[in-house]
Amino acid sequence: MDDSISATEPVEREMRPALFKGWRRRCPQCGQGPMMKSYLKVRDTCPVCDEALHHHKADDGPAYLTILIVGHILAPAIIWVYTHYRPEPMVLATGFTIGCVALSLYLLPRLKGAIVAFQWAKRMHGFGGE
Ligand SMILES: [Zn+2]
Repeated sequence: MDDSISATEPVEREMRPALFKGWRRRCPQCGQGPMMKSYLKVRDTCPVCDEALHHHKADDGPAYLTILIVGHILAPAIIWVYTHYRPEPMVLATGFTIGCVALSLYLLPRLKGAIVAFQWAKRMHGFGGE
């Protein structure tokens, strides 16, 4: 598929299905091809439908959203655990460090996929074909 808008493709791209496909790290166009070629590296084109994916400019967006979400989950959780259970400081620090890293590693590629899909659906940064 070339980058221009074809006569058969609708001008509006549906946001919600694209975001779910991106969250699953799949191509926002077909939902089948893998979007990433490594942990966070986006492929230039979809290997299934040949949709161009190199137009994305996710930049710091996925990291920003990951920090926002992880912080808003774990900051209240650490206060709640401390006030209710008073664990040993090293137990608390170790547990929440592992939880923070694990949740961040889980969310980061999924949020990047969703941001790339958002840009694709909104035809931002060359996804529109101009
Ligand atoms: Zn595809």
